[in-house]
Amino acid sequence: MKKLSGKVAVVTGASKGIGASIARHLAAEGAAVVVNYASSKTGADKVVAEIESAGGKAVAVQGDVAKKADIERLFAETQAAFGTLDILVNNAGIYEGEALGQITEANFHRQFNLNVLGLILTTQEALKYFGPEGGSIVNTSSIVSTLSPAGTAVYNATKAAVDNLSRTFAKELGAKKIRINSVNPGPIETEGTHSAGMVEPFQAFAAVTPLGRIGQPDDIAPAVVFLASPDSRWITGETLYVTGGLR
Ligand code: NAP
Repeated sequence: MKKLSGKVAVVTGASKGIGASIARHLAAEGAAVVVNYASSKTGADKVVAEIESAGGKAVAVQGDVAKKADIERLFAETQAAFGTLDILVNNAGIYEGEALGQITEANFHRQFNLNVLGLILTTQEALKYFGPEGGSIVNTSSIVSTLSPAGTAVYNATKAAVDNLSRTFAKELGAKKIRINSVNPGPIETEGTHSAGMVEPFQAFAAVTPLGRIGQPDDIAPAVVFLASPDSRWITGETLYVTGGLR
């Protein structure tokens, strides 16, 4: 018996990178998965096709999860496709590197609107769809929430906020049997970090990572499956660092 048979999961930002891997791993454990994306329809369709060809169930649903109307449509389409909701992975996020002198209202709002406000609005909307048995919410945070590297203060602050939201909402949602935790990856090679030119600079972290390399999306997804599954039934409000030992 697969760990997530009969469960329905929404993964935001699942057309590529860490989210795509999370979607594939949840489906491999039996969950029906909604593969959300903002603009990369081709990427999302490819993830769905991979899941289906492995015998799983998935649909792609477009929606900008920084926008309330899109979030409402995302869950309405989830219900239409699969009837309920058991697992929400708030993974969509953006990182824009800027030192103090380069921080603007625009780059502040772009990052906070998606990484923090979007996560709050998505969680709020999801509550309307979880059943009486509750469920699990996993937030993709980051090692930067506590490592606080120079040059990415706004992004670091969004992820510190995510950790705090996981702890706070765990207290608010426990009575509904909904658990909520953060997974905090270290540097990961993804489409996003490639296009931001970060993979080369990340190699400096490999040298000081006990396990000797930077991470891949498939290093993160099994931790999300664990937090989504009954194996973690007594865990809520936690931050799980998945970093090869880099802290
Ligand atoms: P990525 O390769 O850039 O992929 C981002 C995903 O998010 C894409 O599927 C993208 O969809 C989607 N997305 C972006 N804006 C969206 C929006 N407004 N609404 C819905 N979906 C949206 O990113 P990644 O590197 O995998 O990172 C994923 C998460 O992990 C983020 O929260 C990031 O902060 C966190 N993280 C990453 C690293 C790392 O080193 N990579 C480390 C720690 C934490 P479209 O392509 O359609 O826009």
